[in-house]
Order: sequence, then structure tokens, then C-alpha cells
Amino acid sequence: MAEPVLSGGCQCGAVRYRIEGTLGHAGICHCRMCQKAFGNWGAALVSVPKAQFTWTRGKPSEFRSSAIVARGFCAGCGTPLYMNEDGDPNYDIAIGTLDDPEQAVPTSQVGIESELSWFKALANLPSHSTEDDRTAEDLRKLKSLQHPDHDTEMWPPISKSSP
Ligand SMILES: [Zn+2]
Ligand SMILES: [Zn+2]
Repeated sequence: MAEPVLSGGCQCGAVRYRIEGTLGHAGICHCRMCQKAFGNWGAALVSVPKAQFTWTRGKPSEFRSSAIVARGFCAGCGTPLYMNEDGDPNYDIAIGTLDDPEQAVPTSQVGIESELSWFKALANLPSHSTEDDRTAEDLRKLKSLQHPDHDTEMWPPISKSSP
């Protein structure tokens, strides 16, 4: 049976990757470093062996957040892409950067000493769709400049109407 192939990348499309084979363990991390690195409550990450991983467009920049951990991100748009502990043969890939983030389902949590007090209440907050909050006119103006959720030959696309 053919190995599954997954793709992903940053928001602007300058950095793209491919994963061949099944994903490893997925989990969420509440630690203070993940909060800072993701600008968020923490991070959802999935383990992928580097041997199954290829950068297909561009390369991430790295910031060493501790003596033993590097964090990769897109220098162009700032999207956090992975963390990697020195000597670990796996990347911990940011689940939201997968073209299909549903492929990685977190099954455990770590760093809970830093869990934000409101985290557990998130699932019960009042919920709206984008259509509920925006007029039809607003929605027409929301022209996405984000890279689509699949590989592209060329990005940004060259418009046929431009000179
Ligand atoms: Zn980018
Ligand atoms: Zn963390």
C-alpha cells in the first residue's frame, strides 16, 4: 500500500513541506515558551520523523528558545512551523500548518503548569460563523492573500491581466 503523503506550509507560501508516511503522536503544549512562540494559549504539535519530511519550497528561519530547542518559522510571514530538540530525529510540526489539520488529532497535553485559566472554558464560548458576523459586502472584500491548502506551481500566482 502506498504511503500517505501530506503537505503543508506557512501562511504566505514562501515555506512549504511534504510528509511521506504516517504522522506520529499529536499533542498540545501549554508551556510558556509555546505560548510566546505561537502568540497564543499554547501549541498543537504533531511528531514527524525528519527522514519522512522534505522542505519543498523555501527554508524556515530558526530561533533557539532554549539551549536545547530550536523553533522554525517563516521569516516572511512569521508563521510558527516546528520545534526541534537537539538530537531529536523528529520535528514537532505545528498542526495548523498542515494543509489538512484534521489529519493530526491531539491525544495528550503537556506543560499544564502554564495552562491559562480560561483555556478549559474555550469549548463552551458562544459561537458564530464568519457569515454570521460579516455582511455580504464585507465578504466580497475579503480577498484572501493566504497560500491555498495545496501545493502550487508558482506563488504568488502571476495574474494574466497584469502587464
Ligand atoms: Zn510565510
Ligand atoms: Zn511547549
